[in-house]
Amino acid sequence: MIDIHLHTKISYDSSENPENYIAAAKNLGIKTLTFSEHCDYDVFLEEGGPLPDFKEYDMEIKRLQNNFPDMNILKGVELGYSRDALPYYRDLVASEGFDCVILSVHTLRGRGDCYFPKFFDGLEREQAFALYLNALSESVKCGLDFDVIGHMGYISRYAPYEDRALRYSEFSELWDNILKGLIERGKCLEVNTSANGSSEATLPPREIIKRYFELGGRFVSFGSDAHTAADFCRGEGEAKAILRDIGFEEGCYFEGRRRKIYKI
Ligand SMILES: [Zn+2]
Ligand SMILES: [Zn+2]
Repeated sequence: MIDIHLHTKISYDSSENPENYIAAAKNLGIKTLTFSEHCDYDVFLEEGGPLPDFKEYDMEIKRLQNNFPDMNILKGVELGYSRDALPYYRDLVASEGFDCVILSVHTLRGRGDCYFPKFFDGLEREQAFALYLNALSESVKCGLDFDVIGHMGYISRYAPYEDRALRYSEFSELWDNILKGLIERGKCLEVNTSANGSSEATLPPREIIKRYFELGGRFVSFGSDAHTAADFCRGEGEAKAILRDIGFEEGCYFEGRRRKIYKI
């Protein structure tokens, strides 16, 4: 499958050189890869966090495309959702010429990123999960021109509870709402393999991917969410096996914001 969720040193939390991903892709006989650098204007609004230099990013992609003409190197972005950040993202998406736009929920207003323990202060497991899923539902319906919803279930990567699983059965109404929202809008569900030691191989968990299929969803993309080239395509075999077992026959990537299909 084609890995469309990769971070390099353009992202604040990676120091990897893009050439190392290209070398890893060549080793695997893969010709297409999409960088998807972080743009967390949600964090910037709350804490003044770093934003990427889009001019530098564009030059970097053009340089790579020139240096590796036999490869299909695509320029994506991963936007950290918040309602307040939407006006900025609308302008960005309209002006930057991205190939692919991934929208991800990392933060909740006033709580910051689920990555940090303080996010969970004073929250019971069910409360934290419901807050996250409500934000996810809001992101799907936000009206932004995006392609993919990234790593649904992200909160279970870092939740400090003994039971970190975000089960369908506990939040079936919310999950259905989110999945139907994706399907109605023709958006793509990302199968992300950076579940960070949780009991599941993927984000979202298999049962959520299966439910998406049952409801009629057919657009799936694959993302390792690698921050180092060693993690390029990590878990790809397992993700593919899960998807095939459920009944999916195709995966998606995006070029010039158009969906491209490949057999899995
Ligand atoms: Zn993310
Ligand atoms: Zn990411």
